[in-house]
Amino acid sequence: MAVPAQMGSVTDNPFWIVWSDGHRSKYSWQRLRMACPCAHCKGEWTYRPDPLTEKDVAPTIRAMSLTRVGAYALRFTWMDGHDTGLYPFPLLRHEICECDECVARRASEPSPR
Ligand SMILES: [Zn+2]
Ligand SMILES: [Zn+2]
Repeated sequence: MAVPAQMGSVTDNPFWIVWSDGHRSKYSWQRLRMACPCAHCKGEWTYRPDPLTEKDVAPTIRAMSLTRVGAYALRFTWMDGHDTGLYPFPLLRHEICECDECVARRASEPSPR
């Protein structure tokens, strides 16, 4: 599993991570907040809220602090007080990376019928 070798700070915009496999990821704060994988945002069991959209998250949202959780995730404390989301590295590296390469790859993947 790729792990962050270098990371931006909460004052960087966009936020960025350079991975141990050499991949350079970047993330807009708003999309990062929208992708929060915690039970409150994404649901669990029978609780399935609507996914967060641009309407739910202020375009100016930023994280106030971030911490590395063990060997597998990052945790952000957001300006809106939210801090329960643990972002596993595979999510950050493969699913929500906004670098040109990943954006192009996701756009070219066949959509499920
Ligand atoms: Zn959340
Ligand atoms: Zn990428």
